Amino acid sequence: MRTYSKEGLIDVRSLDEGLNEIELKVLASALSIEPLEEDVRIQLKLHKTGEKLTAKGDVTFALILECSRCLTEFRKEFTEKLDVFFLPGFSESKEKELSKDEATTLYYGSKGVDLLPVIHDTILLSTPMKSLCSEDCKGLCPKCGKNLNDGPCGCKK
Ligand SMILES: [Zn+2]
Ligand SMILES: [Zn+2]
Repeated sequence: MRTYSKEGLIDVRSLDEGLNEIELKVLASALSIEPLEEDVRIQLKLHKTGEKLTAKGDVTFALILECSRCLTEFRKEFTEKLDVFFLPGFSESKEKELSKDEATTLYYGSKGVDLLPVIHDTILLSTPMKSLCSEDCKGLCPKCGKNLNDGPCGCKK
């Protein structure tokens, strides 16, 4: 297990030709996504062919979300797929060619492959705008504001 700090990069030259299986741990503080909890785990299969690199894997993380009905905070785990294709390249304009194709093509610099932006986007894209603590959340009483999941309030309907 490698811990992947903000400065962490994967040195392509240090990888074996062919398949490399690595497990990374990214610190939530390096990603600055507010509802993100603890650490982010990434199981990666890096396939190296010359200078080309394919990264496929799973990103597992937990978010602290607020229920849009009862406003209670709850924790939810996510596992998202990562599928990126890396090519060597140093031009800035190339780096901006981020598309939402099936396999995103990115470019790595002389220092190595920086997975942090990819992981950041993956987490951000899967963060729901609205979320419920449970499908049958009863919400708050519109009159007294009591959380009706904790039991009925005294208000007359
Ligand atoms: Zn709720
Ligand atoms: Zn009430």
